[in-house]
Amino acid sequence: MKHMLLEATMPSTLADEFNPRLSAEARFDTAAARLGLDDGMQKVLRSPSREVIVHIPVLLDDGRLEVFTGYRVQHSVARGPAKGGIRYAPDVTHDEVRALAAWMTWKCAVVNIPFGGGKGGVICDPGVLSPSELERITRRYTAEIFEFIGPDKDVPAPDMNTNEQTMAWIMDTYSMHARQTVSAVVTGKPINLGGSRGRAEATGRGCMIVTDQALRRLGLERSSTRVVIQGFGNVGGMAAKLMSRAGYKIVCIIEWDGAVYNATGLDIAALMKHRTETGSITGFSGGEDMDKTEAMFLECDVLLPAAKENVITSQNAHKLRTKVLCEGANGPSTHVADAILAEKGIFVIPDILANAGGVTVSYFEWVQDRQGYFWSEQVVNDRLEEIMVNSFQDVVAYSDKHGVNNRLAAYMLALDRVAAAIKMRGIYA
Ligand code: NAD
Repeated sequence: MKHMLLEATMPSTLADEFNPRLSAEARFDTAAARLGLDDGMQKVLRSPSREVIVHIPVLLDDGRLEVFTGYRVQHSVARGPAKGGIRYAPDVTHDEVRALAAWMTWKCAVVNIPFGGGKGGVICDPGVLSPSELERITRRYTAEIFEFIGPDKDVPAPDMNTNEQTMAWIMDTYSMHARQTVSAVVTGKPINLGGSRGRAEATGRGCMIVTDQALRRLGLERSSTRVVIQGFGNVGGMAAKLMSRAGYKIVCIIEWDGAVYNATGLDIAALMKHRTETGSITGFSGGEDMDKTEAMFLECDVLLPAAKENVITSQNAHKLRTKVLCEGANGPSTHVADAILAEKGIFVIPDILANAGGVTVSYFEWVQDRQGYFWSEQVVNDRLEEIMVNSFQDVVAYSDKHGVNNRLAAYMLALDRVAAAIKMRGIYA
C-alpha cells in the first residue's frame, strides 16, 4: 500500500493513548518530522502564543460567593484572529484547553480560512448551576478576558455545554464594555443577533460533502452506500438527515443507550420523531435494536463517528469493516489506532477536515457581521461546499504527492501553511 504508516510513538498505557494532548503532540511530531520543519519553527508551533487564566468571583443564587477558574488560550494568530469554542465542564484543564487550541489552528489552516486557533474553558458544573448563575459566570468571564478577545484578536464560539444563549451573553457583555454593539466578537449566535443561516447544519453538511468526494475517488455511488453513524446529536443527526435525503442508505444509528439497524436504510425523519416522543432511538418500529458496541463493527461503506473522542482505539480498530471513516467528532480515533486504520486500507477523512464545516460557517458568520450584510442559506451552503471540496482536494493531493495517509497529509498541509505565514511575517524580536 502506498500510504505511509504514522510512526507515532506507542504509549505505554491506555491512559496515555486516550490523552488528547499526547495524541495531538504525536500527530504534530510525525507531521513536523516528515515536513522537515526546523527545530526553531517546531518550538514556535508547539507553544501557545498567549494564555490567560482568570479566577472569577460569582454570586450564587443562595447568596454564597464562589470563585471559578477560566482559561483562554490563543495557540496561534499567525494567519488571523484566534478562533475556537469555550467549554463549561467540571473537568476542564489548562492542558486540555491548550491541546484543543492547537487543534483549531490546524483545522482553520486545512480549510484555509484566515483564522488562527484558540480555545477557552471554565471549570464549573452546568448541571447544578441555574441559568442566572451561568449568565453571571459568562458575563464575568467575558469581562475578565475583554482585552484579550475581539473581532480582530480572538473570536470565541460555543463548545461543550455552551450554546447560542451563552454567545448572546458574551456579545452583550463585550459590547457594553466597548460602548458599541460588536456582533463579530463571537460566532454561533442566534440568527437575530447576527448569527448565520446554515450554521446549525454546517458540520453535518460538511461531513456529507467530504464523504461525497471520497465516494467519487473510490468509485462508489450514494444509492448503494451503507452508512453507520455514531451519535444522533447536532453533527450526527444533521449528517443523517442530509445524507438520507441525498440518497445514502443510513443502515444504523448508534446512541449512548443502544443502536437501531435497518439493512434497507432507516427513515431518519421518522426516527427523529420517535426519539422526540420516547426520548430514545431504541424501540423504533422502522428498524431493529442492536448492541451499540457491535454496531460499530457492522460491515458498511461509511462509518461516521459523531459522538465523542477516543471511540476507535488500539483495542478495536482492527474490527472495523468500513471502506471510509468520516470523522465527524473531534478525536474519535486515537493516534495509536491511526497505524491500524492505515494498515487496513480504510480511507480516513480526518477530523480536522471532516468536521471543519462548522468553523467554516462560523467564518462566514464573522464576515457577514463585519459586512453588516447577511447571506441567504443557499449562498452559505454553496460557499461551504466550495471550501470543503477544495480542502478535500488539497488534502488528497498532498497525500498523493508525499505518499502519506490522509491524516498525516492534513496535518502536514496545516503545519506547512502556518509555518509559511510565520516565515513570511518574520520573527519580531
Ligand atoms: P451533541 O451533544 O449534539 O451530540 C452528541 C450525540 O452523541 C448525543 O446525541 C449523545 O447522546 C451521543 N452520544 C454520547 N455518548 C455516546 C456514546 N458513547 N455512544 C453513542 N452516542 C453517544 O454534540 P455535537 O455538537 O453533535 O458534537 C459531536 C462531536 O462533534 C463532538 O466531538 C464535537 O466536538 C464534534 N464537533 C461538533 C461540531 C458542531 O458544530 N456541533 C463541530 C466540530 C466538531
